[in-house]
Amino acid sequence: MNLEKNITNVRLTVPHTVTLVVVTKTQPHERILEVYKTGERVFGENKVQELVAKYEALPKDITWHMIGHLQTNKVKFITPFISLIHSVDSLKLLKEINKQAKKINKITNCLLQIHIATEETKFGLSEEELVGIVQSDELSLLKNIKIIGLMGMATFTNNTTLVKKEFSSLKRIFEKMKKYSLSDNIEMKELSMGMSGDYLLAIEEGSSMIRIGSTIFGAREIRH
Ligand SMILES: *Cc1c(COP(=O)(O)O)cnc(C)c1O
Repeated sequence: MNLEKNITNVRLTVPHTVTLVVVTKTQPHERILEVYKTGERVFGENKVQELVAKYEALPKDITWHMIGHLQTNKVKFITPFISLIHSVDSLKLLKEINKQAKKINKITNCLLQIHIATEETKFGLSEEELVGIVQSDELSLLKNIKIIGLMGMATFTNNTTLVKKEFSSLKRIFEKMKKYSLSDNIEMKELSMGMSGDYLLAIEEGSSMIRIGSTIFGAREIRH
């Protein structure tokens, strides 16, 4: 079943099994509130400072996701309120997330970001690095984090064949990870892939979470 979402005059077709993360980066509070009023509650930011400012200013029933690269020294600022961190790309970062979560007796949900694009600049783990992390003894000791899936970004291109291939490779890794005998703090259930330009392809390839900014808000003036 598809859900026709009508968000401030933008129509998005999202299957009911797929979570829409509304990416609010660079948007002022008033515009975010317009979207909030249409019923959306899951919002994503890629910068810690903006995330904290928006969390403080906006309604408290919003579920906030961190989608951008996260530095270890900034984890503490988002730990108290973050619902999901999509962009975890090292064991070091997982340890820090665990440490901060433990301090406040919380379990922080994380996705491991996998490098699937041909571009050099994108962050993320290789499949080998991923396997290294999920199998490590150290990981099993981190009781205050939970890895609930994977995230990836496809190459920024009009080449749909390439994008589809990248998404299907991530889906394949995701399915493989599900079968590993993994530790208690891993439960592979979410696959975060798809942005404004490629979310339909991502859904076709098995995405469970799409991260949409510019389709909802219009093109950003500042590129992040
Ligand atoms: C900005 C951003 C998005 C949303 O991009 P749009 O093309 O505006 O939909 C999704 N994921 C990440 C990690 C981003 O930084």
